[in-house]
Amino acid sequence: MESDIVNSAVRRRMMQAVQRDGTDIEVAVRRVVRLLGHRYRLNRRNLPGSPDLSNEKARWAIFVHGCFWHGHPHCAKTKGGRRGRIPVANRGFWERKIASNRLRDASKAKSLSELGFRVLTIWECEVQNSEHLQSKIGTFIRSAAQQKRQIGTST
Ligand SMILES: [Zn+2]
Repeated sequence: MESDIVNSAVRRRMMQAVQRDGTDIEVAVRRVVRLLGHRYRLNRRNLPGSPDLSNEKARWAIFVHGCFWHGHPHCAKTKGGRRGRIPVANRGFWERKIASNRLRDASKAKSLSELGFRVLTIWECEVQNSEHLQSKIGTFIRSAAQQKRQIGTST
């Protein structure tokens, strides 16, 4: 197996670096949601994929994804970024890992939308632009509220 060749110490270091990043991105997203005046819960285990942020009553869920691990398409960061580029050694291993993450992400989003949730993905590379982040999250939560009202009145 190719994956056995990947030096486990190197892999552990990479995973740790990504986890640290992930935490920073999540914190930034939480801050924006709070700033916009919306309530949320973290990692609700009763919801498919335990979304990073969610509001069950308002029927929305937000996933915060690292561009590398979740294979952000057309991402400037993973194409040219030092940290984001797929390592040349064991390329197959990383590509398979990212592909399986993407499949899992898609199935989580599908399960949530079947439960009537609106689902938003925030990518790591979007977090740097706080104005963009605010307008994206704001629009998303408003549209979730609208959809919920429409469902509410039609039944
Ligand atoms: Zn990206």
